[in-house]
Amino acid sequence: MKIFRTISELQNWGIPNQNNNIGYVPTMGALHEGHLSLVKHSKNTCKITIVSIFVNELQFAPEEDFEQYPRTLEQDLAKLKHLKVDALFLPLSTEIYKNDFSFLISEKKLSQKLEGLSRPGFFSGVTTIVCKLFNIIQPSFAFFGKKDIQQLIIIKKMVSDLNFNITIVGCETIRESSGLAMSSRNQYLSNEDKKSASLLYKTLVLGKDLLNNFEEVGSVKLQMKTTLENNKKIKIDYISIANLDTLREFKKNVILKNEKAVISAAIFINGVRLIDNIIIE
Ligand code: AMP
Repeated sequence: MKIFRTISELQNWGIPNQNNNIGYVPTMGALHEGHLSLVKHSKNTCKITIVSIFVNELQFAPEEDFEQYPRTLEQDLAKLKHLKVDALFLPLSTEIYKNDFSFLISEKKLSQKLEGLSRPGFFSGVTTIVCKLFNIIQPSFAFFGKKDIQQLIIIKKMVSDLNFNITIVGCETIRESSGLAMSSRNQYLSNEDKKSASLLYKTLVLGKDLLNNFEEVGSVKLQMKTTLENNKKIKIDYISIANLDTLREFKKNVILKNEKAVISAAIFINGVRLIDNIIIE
């Protein structure tokens, strides 16, 4: 596996021309099976797979966990080598954001909902870095997790609105056996916290079952809220039942048969913020 620390090193590599067949997996490291599933997807789809690890300060608010964010480079390298990744892009922050960097790529609609309401500035941090990394790496395919469904929807929109010639592939969420979605931030949780955290996915499944039984949207949200609040460790940030394409909240009581929906929620456990979602197709 080649490791590139600078943009010029990567671009001088002269990526073997593989007929538009470069797969790219952007990450912030602390790799787990969720990340590795994206890598496997890329390996199965493309001739060349490039992974990046970059903890992007631009998407963290000042009070968030940029400094504490888990950094486990040794283990990450071993996992990527094991999967026979072709190249890892591991830039320094100073390489990505020069002193006079003054640009921001912002989405104006989808990013104003859900995560965007709770984390102002988060999505412009994400779209700016992904846009830069797409320009640097110029992949034909890029792989993102459905675990971060709003991010996936916004990146797809960015590629469409800004005419990137890249196919965005959404990959299924990988979970612990308890149902807890894998996340680098799970490292902040004790075993006891993880047990509580697994209630998040169970509650999403409950929501999906209730909606499939034609329960009213308001009543479903209420039952989900009650279920989560039964656990004293959990503080709810939001529960949403929205259209999968537009992220518009369902106001009508019952979701129509031909509509795709996403139930998503964000909770805090001991100050650790966790998100998850389930799709109804
Ligand atoms: P991150 O390192 O958290 O920025 O995540 C990098 C990529 O991995 C994003 O596309 C995430 O959506 C994806 N990802 C994170 N956790 C999971 C998971 N449990 N299952 C599938 N994909 C995931």
